[in-house]
Amino acid sequence: MTANPQPPEKMMFQLTLRRRGISDQAVLRTMEEVPREMFVEEGDREGAYHDSALAISCGQTISQPFVVAYMTEQLKLQKHHRVLEIGTGSGYQAAVLSRLAGHVLTVERYRKLADIARARLEKLGCHNVEVMLGDGLNLPANIGPFDRIIVTAALDKVPEHLIERLDMGGILIAPVGPHQGLQMLVRLTKTGAGIERKELVEVRFVPALPGVAREL
Ligand code: SAH
Repeated sequence: MTANPQPPEKMMFQLTLRRRGISDQAVLRTMEEVPREMFVEEGDREGAYHDSALAISCGQTISQPFVVAYMTEQLKLQKHHRVLEIGTGSGYQAAVLSRLAGHVLTVERYRKLADIARARLEKLGCHNVEVMLGDGLNLPANIGPFDRIIVTAALDKVPEHLIERLDMGGILIAPVGPHQGLQMLVRLTKTGAGIERKELVEVRFVPALPGVAREL
């Protein structure tokens, strides 16, 4: 019996991620395993393994695979980590995180996106992910602390209440900058000596908006 050969588009996908500098083997393997075609709109399945962001419902986007892999790599996840994601969107980033961490809480302000993502993640067997309808900019006080926080919508600045929810040694990664145009991906690490801040790469995310969306 011969092993199933990898479809060419998935081989290209891996190659692109490696060429662009992703080297963490666990991250690369996870990117290979999570079926991105399950997270894009039906008409976009053919292009699911191109390295580009795609439109999803509610005027939002599923992030570009390189950015998903890069942010995941920067989080240096361990199997016991509790992770908070703000901006569930399609649920793709949450599925990637779920394979590398202990538990993932992902928050989305659109009910429709939260419901679709929850169903997808369940179908994929990502039982360590909880999808919550809510406002990541204004979370209930009893949520946290977390080992890692990933924000996948653009922030004007990183809110203090998020930094407070990070455990010692914790890492937060978020795009910070204007709603339109490019933002800087920023990594904050909580150390005994304070917060270490590193600017990583320029990215383009949809904005983080306040409140749970009123439309479905
Ligand atoms: N991580 C997603 C892509 C995120 S797109 C994926 O893998 O597909 C950004 C998402 O953040 C959008 O779905 C948007 O509705 C959501 N969002 C924006 N502001 C938010 C807020 N304050 N709280 C929760 N979700 C928010």
